[in-house]
Amino acid sequence: MIAEVIVDIAASETDRIYDYLCDDSVIVGSRVRAPFGGKTVAGFVMRIKENSDVPLQKLKKVLPCPDELPALNGECLFLAEKLAARYRVPKALTLRLFLPAEMRTGKVRELTKNYAELTVDFAEIKISKSAKNQLGAAEYLQKNGKTECALLNRLFPGGVAGLEKKGCVKITQEQVLRDPYKNVETESVERKLTPDQARAVKTVETDARTVQLIHGVTGSGKTEIYLTLIAKCLREGKSSIFLVPEISLTPQMLAQLRARFGKNAAILHSGLSAGERFDEWWRLRMGEAKIAIGARSAVFAPLENLGVIIIDEEHDSSYSSESAPRYNTFDVALLRAKRNGCKLVLGSATPAVDTYKRAREGEFSLIRLEKRINQRPLPEIIIADMRREVRRGNNSAFSGALKEEIEKCLSANKQAILFLNRRGYSQTVICKECGYVAKCEQCDVSLTYHREENCLKCHYCGQKYNMLSACPECGGIKLSYAGTGTQRVVADLQKLYPTARILRMDNDTTSGKEGHYKILKTFSAHEADILVGTQMIAKGHDFPEVTLVGILDADMSLHFSDYRSGERTFQLLTQVAGRSGRAEEKGKVVLQTFDPENEVLRFATAYDYEGFYQNEISLRAAMQFPPFSKIVRVLVTGEDDKKTMEALREVYVGLEQLYTQNTEKFLFFNKMRAPIKRIQNKFRYQVLMRISDTSVLPEIYDICAEVRSRDVLVSVEENPANLS
Ligand code: ADP
Ligand code: ZN
Repeated sequence: MIAEVIVDIAASETDRIYDYLCDDSVIVGSRVRAPFGGKTVAGFVMRIKENSDVPLQKLKKVLPCPDELPALNGECLFLAEKLAARYRVPKALTLRLFLPAEMRTGKVRELTKNYAELTVDFAEIKISKSAKNQLGAAEYLQKNGKTECALLNRLFPGGVAGLEKKGCVKITQEQVLRDPYKNVETESVERKLTPDQARAVKTVETDARTVQLIHGVTGSGKTEIYLTLIAKCLREGKSSIFLVPEISLTPQMLAQLRARFGKNAAILHSGLSAGERFDEWWRLRMGEAKIAIGARSAVFAPLENLGVIIIDEEHDSSYSSESAPRYNTFDVALLRAKRNGCKLVLGSATPAVDTYKRAREGEFSLIRLEKRINQRPLPEIIIADMRREVRRGNNSAFSGALKEEIEKCLSANKQAILFLNRRGYSQTVICKECGYVAKCEQCDVSLTYHREENCLKCHYCGQKYNMLSACPECGGIKLSYAGTGTQRVVADLQKLYPTARILRMDNDTTSGKEGHYKILKTFSAHEADILVGTQMIAKGHDFPEVTLVGILDADMSLHFSDYRSGERTFQLLTQVAGRSGRAEEKGKVVLQTFDPENEVLRFATAYDYEGFYQNEISLRAAMQFPPFSKIVRVLVTGEDDKKTMEALREVYVGLEQLYTQNTEKFLFFNKMRAPIKRIQNKFRYQVLMRISDTSVLPEIYDICAEVRSRDVLVSVEENPANLS
């Protein structure tokens, strides 16, 4: 028989089907080892056929990998081919998306344990008196039967090995699955759905449209709707995929999921070790677990017979991938939903403008939940005008109104969350004498001062630099620290409220396996009074004791020069505000701004999504920005500036030709340096386009795929989440 194989090399030169001879043990979807150009490489069997166009004597033979099941099911193969065509990347790259990295690199194998067992009776074994450990191990085995070797070796070092040489023990290997959640406490809560929730479930089940958008205010009980849908699928023997932004997999959420679904759910998140991830993936592939829960990459879960796919917080930017292939989670989910004939459920309190437009126009079904559970009111938002604070001589990060509310909150023994979009102590270090700004040597961005480590850090590449004692340019010693970061806020707060227990949560405090779980757990157990954090605290958390949320700098994201900054700000403010007053106590939000008249802030404080949307969509229509057009950026990056520019030129020539032949389909076309000229020592250039007609898109991909170079990366981004 002949196997059609894709070799696992991510290069366009080798991106084609190769025919190999194989025997019956090789089946569609399995991984194989294939002789290729004098080496043996990994490959994937896409199809099996009887005949090849290549003469038989020229064909080489592939060997199967010893997997229990083919690594990839039919659906994965189908999707991988579709995605490779859609994003013009080698199939090897899209196939890889469906496998845990550990499986490809072979670094993590199934976790196996060795067990020893006596094969003859203890009395028949001849052991000299001096071999105490052999004696001990044999006795132990006689008494306890089959025992894990690791334990025996601890108790009787070398004993088992001695017995094995004598031929009187048998060693067997058994696979054990790591259980990453042994330590998660479970709390089982079966809730009766509210009428609103029940209506939502019913609509999802009965509405004929594939995509169902649930637009529900924060705290309206969307999670319960998702869990009900998943449970129903499980009862029907169907599988489900539940996608959340990584950060929403909080300890409470994990506990709830474990209590509800136990071993039926495989939960994939960044806190897992490689081995744990591998096991969870394997349980899905084997059909032992029927629910895949995780961040965007869980959309590739090796499941069959899907009953529902859910994307929670669908507006979240983490759903578009920032490395090749730059897939969009929604697109992949939609492909799968259509193939399985199941529903794709999107949920958000602040849907992406594009999604909402499609729902309003009837392409998606639109389910509204306008009230919080138990009619709890949405928190009151107080706007603090920071211009007035400055005029009053208050230059601190906290307005009078915020301080007052913090005091009230602390004395009522409640909890507060303070939100700030910048980590570190202060954003920039500037020399007051000559204006020198400390910048990263590898990236074209300024460094942030981190007081705890007394160093400067680059937030793009993570590089650390020694703190400056004097300006390297002019030798001046008057250095100023501009911009407040989370570290500074904590330090200042601690001065104001010496007895308050303050926690900080940002990228610096959440590294390591359980980083943010620990912080969130401490906070949810009310072992701290104030949580200070970056946007990672904005999402999904449900802390009943929180009655105050302070947004220290609501203006930050409004000033990003991105057409979506209004949308982002509205989403962020709504999400952050949604953390307050989720239980009996009414919540409050203090929003600090230098621009209190700003429209977006006005809509956000009134919780007026519809108003925001109408305003935003008419702006976008007038400016012809997405969803009325598509922004396409071709990003060219490389370490060698000259080679990178050459690649840019090559891409540009092709694109310019396309542009001149189709001018009417373009609203904007230009090549330039990327806003950040260098990141991690790589120079960055871009061709930025805004197109009114997506029919030119395949050609843009084709042109970029043509420019092949070992040293330069050319990537196409559609409506990129980040234009830096
Ligand atoms: P959302 O995801 O829409 O922000 P959640 O799903 O977090 O809202 O629900 C908000 C709160 O209401 C949670 O504390 C949740 O436990 C509670 N809740 C949800 N559904 C019900 C229900 N049917 N009965 C009682 N409480 C509920
Ligand atoms: Zn850097």
